[in-house]
Amino acid sequence: MSRFLRDELLGLAPYTPGEQPSERKYIKLNTNESPFPPSQKAVAAAAEAAKSLQLYPPLDGGELRLKLAEHLGVSYEQVAVTNGSDEALNFIFKAFCGKSSPAAFADITYGFYKVFAGLNGVPFDIIPLREDFRLAPEDYFGIDRNIFIANPNAPTGLKISLSDIEKIASSNPDKITVIDEAYVDFGGESAVPLISAHPNLIVVQTFSKSRSLAGARVGFAVASPEIIADLYRIIYSTNPYNLSRTNLAAALGALSDGDYTLSNCKKIIRTRERVAGELKKLGFRVLESSSNFLFASSPKIGGKQLYSRLKSEGILIRHFDSPRISDFVRITIGSDGEMDEFLKAAAKILD
Ligand code: PMP
Repeated sequence: MSRFLRDELLGLAPYTPGEQPSERKYIKLNTNESPFPPSQKAVAAAAEAAKSLQLYPPLDGGELRLKLAEHLGVSYEQVAVTNGSDEALNFIFKAFCGKSSPAAFADITYGFYKVFAGLNGVPFDIIPLREDFRLAPEDYFGIDRNIFIANPNAPTGLKISLSDIEKIASSNPDKITVIDEAYVDFGGESAVPLISAHPNLIVVQTFSKSRSLAGARVGFAVASPEIIADLYRIIYSTNPYNLSRTNLAAALGALSDGDYTLSNCKKIIRTRERVAGELKKLGFRVLESSSNFLFASSPKIGGKQLYSRLKSEGILIRHFDSPRISDFVRITIGSDGEMDEFLKAAAKILD
C-alpha cells in the first residue's frame, strides 16, 4: 500500500476471486464457469468483430441492448448492458446507495456486495440467513434499505419465490430491491416480469454462466426506464465504451443460439442431480441447488481439508473460511467426466 492511498480506502477488503492457477492443469470446479465452450455463433461473431478493433465499439451496448430487450420482453430503455454483471452491481451501488441510503444483504451471499458497499462508502446491514441457510423474506419487510439478493443464492444454491420477491420490493417502496440472477437459468425463476408492477426492482443477469462467456465479461441490468437512465449516467461518467466490440459480438452470437444454451443448462442440471445423489450416498449433507454448483458438507472431513486434499489430487473446488459455512465446500458442476473424477477422488479421501 502506498502512502498516497486515500483514507476512505484504507479499510477496504477487496473481493477474493476463486483461484485461476496456471502452474498445472486442474479439473476446475471452483469458479462456476461452464464446462462447455461458447456457442460457435459467439466465437464466429467475435472473430468477425475483431477485424474492426481499430474503431471504438458502439455506445449503449449497440445491437445487444436491442436484442436483449426483445428477448426479455421489455423495452430498449429498460436494459443497461455492462462489463460483466459485477459492473452492473457496482454501478447500482454508485447510483442508488450512499450514507443516507444504506444497503442490506444476507450474511451468506455473493461476497462482492460487501466489497462494493466498502468501495462506494455505503453503510450496510447484514441480515443472517436462517439456521437452514434459507432467506426468510419477512426479515426484509419494511426495512427501508437498498436490498441485494442473489436468487438463486451463492454459495448456497437455494432460491426464493417470486411472490416473496414481490413482497420484499413492495414493502420497501422508497428503496431499490436488486435481484442478482447470475444462476437463474439452472432452475430459478426470473423476476423480470415483475418489473412493470414494481418500479423499485432491478434484475441483474450475466452471460458468464449459462452462456459460457465468463471470459468475455458481459452482464446486464433490467429495470424501469428511469432507473436504467440513472445507470447510463454512471456508465457515461465512467467509461461510455464499457464493452469491447468482441465481447458485444460474442454476447449477440450467444443470445442468438438459445437452443445451445438450453441444452447445456439441461445437461448441467442432470449432472448436478446425479452428483448430489452420489454425494449423499457418501454421507454428505447437500443443499438443494437451483444453480450450477452444489454446496455440501461431510461429517467426516472439514471443508478446508477436503478442499486441500482434492487440490493435491488435481481437482479445484471452493472453500470459504467464513463463520457458519467453514464445514462446507462449493463444487461447480463440470462435465460428466470431470464429475466422475471428482466423485472418485472424494470417495477415496473419505475412505
Ligand atoms: N453475481 C453472482 C451471485 C455471482 O456468483 C457472480 C460470479 N462470480 C456474479 C454476480 C458476477 O458475474 P460476472 O461479473 O461474471 O457477470
